[in-house]
Amino acid sequence: MSGPIIRVENLHKCYGKVEVLKGIDLAVSRGEVVCIIGPSGSGKSTLLRCINRLETCDRGRVLIDGQEISAAGEVELNRLRSQVGMVFQRFHLFPHLTVTENITLAPRQVRKLPPEQAAALAGDLLQKVGLADKAEQYPSRLSGGQQQRVAIARALAMAPKIMLFDEPTSALDPELVGEVLQVMRDLAREGMTMLVVTHEMGFAREVAHRVLFIDQGTILEAGPPAQIFDRPANPRTREFLRKVL
Ligand code: ADP
Ligand code: MG
Repeated sequence: MSGPIIRVENLHKCYGKVEVLKGIDLAVSRGEVVCIIGPSGSGKSTLLRCINRLETCDRGRVLIDGQEISAAGEVELNRLRSQVGMVFQRFHLFPHLTVTENITLAPRQVRKLPPEQAAALAGDLLQKVGLADKAEQYPSRLSGGQQQRVAIARALAMAPKIMLFDEPTSALDPELVGEVLQVMRDLAREGMTMLVVTHEMGFAREVAHRVLFIDQGTILEAGPPAQIFDRPANPRTREFLRKVL
């Protein structure tokens, strides 16, 4: 199929009287990596949550591969949501399930994948994230970086078309950040479409095709990393980058 794999049109979101997204327009191509930067409270998480409809929007639309997730009924919503993997700042693994059980839960329950196939899938994904030896461990026995890599494997288990990352390394000790970014870098190289909220400017500069600067619910500036980081046009982008770089 042609056309953008994510299309966001005039997206508005309010919490009470506070409008946190003020008309977001965004089209993401297949295989594109878009990094979203911006101050705390600017609406970055809300935007990701509207894209997989963990939040409903008040105005506008979100289309996944041409189909409107923002207005989908329950059956359609589940189908569309399974095309969108999400990784959170805190890993949200199930503590009472092993690594393999965490990864295979959705494919087994939703896709009715037989146990042997599910185990093989988990094995492949653990290989991919460099944790083949942790299949039978419980999350509490793993470092934060390892848990986040399991969370990425779990998101990939449903074979999503798109991966959303919401500050995936912000809760990690500094020495564990690199191993998670490496897995994300590999995914990007394989052609996964990725939308990544991050404060890792080095990663954004290296991996992103496009960087968006969001402030107060608006995309203030967007462009290739070299443009945003080296020649930001908007004074607020410049001020933000001065603080974080
Ligand atoms: P960011 O991810 O950029 O830090 P968020 O999208 O989390 O920003 O939040 C944007 C604004 O919306 C903030 O002011 C935040 O306090 C508010 N907000 C986020 N989630 C909720 C919620 N569930 N209820 C009320 N306000 C919220
Ligand atoms: Mg956030």
